[in-house]
Amino acid sequence: MTRTIDIGVFTTAQLLDAIAPSDGGRDILDPATGAIVGRAPERTTAELDAAISRARAAQRSWAQLGHRERSSYLDKAADAVDANSEALAELLSREQGKPLNGPNARFEVGACSSWLRTTASFEIEPEKVVDDGVGHAELHYRPLGVVGAIGPWNWPMMITVWQVAPALRMGNTVVVKPSEYTPLSVLALAYVMNTVLPPDVLSVVAGGRDIGEALSAHEGIDKLMFTGSTATGKAIIRSSADTVKRLTLELGGNDAGIVLPDVDVKAVAQDLFWGAFINTGQTCAALKRLYVHEDVYAQVCDALVEVAASMPMGIGLEEQNVLGPLQNRTQFDIVAALVETARESGATVLVGGDPATEQAGYFYPTTLVADIDNSNDLVTHEQFGPALPIIRYSTIDEAVAMANALDVGLGASVWSTDIDKAREVAARIEAGTVWINKHGAVDPRVPFGGSKQSGYGLEFGVEGLKQLGAPQIISY
Ligand code: NAD
Repeated sequence: MTRTIDIGVFTTAQLLDAIAPSDGGRDILDPATGAIVGRAPERTTAELDAAISRARAAQRSWAQLGHRERSSYLDKAADAVDANSEALAELLSREQGKPLNGPNARFEVGACSSWLRTTASFEIEPEKVVDDGVGHAELHYRPLGVVGAIGPWNWPMMITVWQVAPALRMGNTVVVKPSEYTPLSVLALAYVMNTVLPPDVLSVVAGGRDIGEALSAHEGIDKLMFTGSTATGKAIIRSSADTVKRLTLELGGNDAGIVLPDVDVKAVAQDLFWGAFINTGQTCAALKRLYVHEDVYAQVCDALVEVAASMPMGIGLEEQNVLGPLQNRTQFDIVAALVETARESGATVLVGGDPATEQAGYFYPTTLVADIDNSNDLVTHEQFGPALPIIRYSTIDEAVAMANALDVGLGASVWSTDIDKAREVAARIEAGTVWINKHGAVDPRVPFGGSKQSGYGLEFGVEGLKQLGAPQIISY
């Protein structure tokens, strides 16, 4: 059935108006300037209960639409995001801090519509598990019911779509709890999507950690999609235990990159840089520890310093900038303390390391730290900001051992001109994804998830869809 739905086109100011609470709430400040961006509601747990009840009431008819119809709604939601892409990117830039340009705000809004469309495009058919002329067993994926989604502040819109799109596609309705740091981005995105979706299929309940805790423990939630820190992931495992909730946990990472001695330094320098500094380093699967063979160590350091010098950092709405501030004071302090610890240990700060004290906003300069010991806090702790430690190694065994030494394993990368050699090294790394000659390049068709304490469950692709379904065997 083809449906025509008028897609509204809004300005950023109209979106902020539409999502503002009629009373109460709190001001959200721009991390680059300190200016007020807008006002976000602070919902209560009673309001969360009500949203979950509405989502449950809407779920049956949403499930009954079937895959084709739901996919067409996802495509329409993508059209709505595209029609409002500039307004959404501006809001995202002002609230999160990320620049409009580079792999940042416009890129993130673009990813929202492409993830919606790709998620709509997959075929998911019942699987014949046994069909041998004697017995039959088919594996179906039924809707789970109501899915809760809790997200972080680094890629607030994109990660919301990562959680919401497969959940909706599989016939579930969704209640989202955005990060308290970036609620406006998520509320505005959902507002735009809801101009084309049926009522109560997708709702956002903005509030503090208490709302996240209540959602995790709620009897009306059948599955929880969580993206955030490992510490919060562990709290969610505990609070969801009594309801035996299904969980997908995308948690913290501390991704290693290993540069092999045969690397073409010039060819990879830009990609190495963006692997680490995408979203000013505030990315779960960013390169956070770089291991470089001693033969090319100086060359790689020099090349990265050169690339760093060519990447302007500043207020996100200024078109020339491709790096922005840290999103919040806490994260700024974490990065500053880790770099100070590294400096005090005798490591060499090749560039950066000295934030300007007179500048408004949480700007921390692009920082590269060399001659650093693998046991340094800047290496072993997730910095989640623009400060990359570069560690020297002599043998591949040593590099692999260092890469695998931590209890997290989200992504990793190997950099080499010899793909077969790189694949051999990749197979030895304990991480959910190992990229070769790139880092953090997620794709809506390719399953993504962490190993070790970076979480469990997969997102994206048909595998990701299956995780939002209740498997059911029909056997006869
Ligand atoms: P966080 O864990 O502090 O917060 C994430 C969300 O959880 C927020 O919405 C918060 O309100 C909520 N929350 C906090 N306590 C809760 C509780 N007890 N119960 C339920 N919800 C609770 O994470 P953050 O600082 O927003 O994000 C940064 C972290 O997220 C980093 O560690 C980063 O690596 C990780 N991350 C992982 C991925 C991934 O795909 N693996 C993606 C992005 C970010």
